[in-house]
Amino acid sequence: MNGTASGRNISDGYEIPRGRMTEQLRNTYKIADDRVLGAMNTVPRHLFVPNALQSQAYKDNALPLSVGQTISQPFIVARMTELLELSGRERVLEIGSGSGYQTAVLALLARKVYAIERIQSIASVAKERLRNLGYRNISYRVGDGTLGWQIYSPFDAILVAAGGPEIPQPLVDQLAVGGRMVIPIGEGQKSQVLVRVTKTEKGYSTENCGPCAFVPLIGEHGWK
Ligand code: SAH
Repeated sequence: MNGTASGRNISDGYEIPRGRMTEQLRNTYKIADDRVLGAMNTVPRHLFVPNALQSQAYKDNALPLSVGQTISQPFIVARMTELLELSGRERVLEIGSGSGYQTAVLALLARKVYAIERIQSIASVAKERLRNLGYRNISYRVGDGTLGWQIYSPFDAILVAAGGPEIPQPLVDQLAVGGRMVIPIGEGQKSQVLVRVTKTEKGYSTENCGPCAFVPLIGEHGWK
């Protein structure tokens, strides 16, 4: 364990680019939640990207992962996380864990993260990486995240990192009253609107949080 998971900054040679990325999130993208900025300034993003791309890890880009998937742009990770308004006590469901980078950010900001990824090869790499980095508050599963993870519900927050045609009903059902879900929704598979869903006593309300572009959410309540 190298201390990363406890939220301490470690000396890994990337402090300066990571700090610059964090300042850009604050100044250019107006991310205001200090806890989110602190987590982004802590997680070693270069260890979540392919080796050949490590020098680009703190640039403001999405990067290729494998089998056609991508590791999300730092800004969108920060924005989605901020929209969840985490205080540290929450149980969070994450769908489309991919590289595990967003999972690590959530793990620093919530009590427990339940992460689901549908592609086995991607999931195995991410799971081992997160374990080696010392994150201990993550449960990981391979499967269709559009069905949620019933036995651990209700969740205080849900983050979906792939774009679907509609809000999956099982995820609404598994959200606690007052809980927040952020999910990219779009009629096309290439661009979406980031939607924040807030569960209410009677149903849920939605807010449009701006355009985004994610890989498709594939599953029973996503694209077929
Ligand atoms: N935040 C991740 C994003 C990865 S891309 C990162 O920064 O690395 C989105 C991921 O969602 C892909 O790995 C894809 O395989 C996964 N995915 C798509 N549909 C899914 C589903 N129904 N359930 C779980 N994972 C899904």
